[in-house]
Amino acid sequence: QAKSRGRNALCFFDPEMQNRVSSQMELEAQLRLALQQKQFQLYYQPQVNAQGQICGAEALLRWQQPNGELTAPGSFITLAEETGLIIPIGEWVLASACEQLQQWQRQSHTEALTLSVNVSIKQFRQPDFATRVLSILRNYNLNPAQLKLELTETLLLTDVERTVAQMNELNRVGIQFSLDDFGTGYSSLQYLKQLPLYQLKIDRSFVRDVLIDHSDQSIVTTIISMANGLGLEVIAEGVETGEQQHFLSQQGCRHFQGFWFSRPVAVDDFSRLLEQPALPAVG
Ligand code: C2E
Ligand code: MG
Ligand code: MG
Ligand code: MG
Repeated sequence: QAKSRGRNALCFFDPEMQNRVSSQMELEAQLRLALQQKQFQLYYQPQVNAQGQICGAEALLRWQQPNGELTAPGSFITLAEETGLIIPIGEWVLASACEQLQQWQRQSHTEALTLSVNVSIKQFRQPDFATRVLSILRNYNLNPAQLKLELTETLLLTDVERTVAQMNELNRVGIQFSLDDFGTGYSSLQYLKQLPLYQLKIDRSFVRDVLIDHSDQSIVTTIISMANGLGLEVIAEGVETGEQQHFLSQQGCRHFQGFWFSRPVAVDDFSRLLEQPALPAVG
């Protein structure tokens, strides 16, 4: 029958689409293998206070591919989310980051260091997410107040009540929440008020041109004063120059993250950064 429909029937098999589908399937298989074979790593990027002292680190996922390439999450995180693989990957991220924090603590001087971990919406929506997080913290004997979970505004699109309840459960034991990429999503101020947030993270798309673009200037200034008004800590991400930091400071921002201080780095390099009195390091 297909044959009798002739050439038209074949139109469904757009070769480009087929290529896309099969390359996605290939990537999915590679990601499964990556989990099994421990090809994922965490890089850490410092978060600094107004004096440039490191007060936290954001754990950022990297994939060390068999061909030697180190891949940032941009190229695989969406597929990981679509396929649900983000759940086991995210669990690995949380456990590894906590294990690392425990080590830094044992090595010394890091009592005050908080660790920020990105949590995807699918991961957060697991009914037993809170239980899982708490059991990881217990495993590594960590103070929950040292863990910050970064969520994005997409979380607010559905079931706000459940989101709030789940956040409260973790917040009660001291875990802090940060709203990542703030300003790029859809959150209404009404929702913002309901969430037990500790921190707003100004998206780097607003920071990039903050010295030259007047709209970005007003957006950034508004976010900072709103956060201060709501009693939330505010951190700017994507700070690449001293001038940007200076502008943000003048507006009342006290926490920063970005290439100006350090790129995300491997564990050993991060341990060395911890020994610096302040960032950016001189010399
Ligand atoms: P994000 O959470 O907003 O992380 C910040 C991203 O900005 C990182 O990209 C970081 O390398 C980059 N960045 C930091 N400072 C600067 C700067 O000064 N200039 C510029 N141009 N970029 C800067 P990365 O590591 O490629 O991660 C991209 C995104 O992937 C993250 O955005 C986050 O949404 C997601 N992601 C990373 N790790 C994880 C993870 O473990 N779990 C989940 N669910 N998502 C993750
Ligand atoms: Mg983040
Ligand atoms: Mg961000
Ligand atoms: Mg981002």
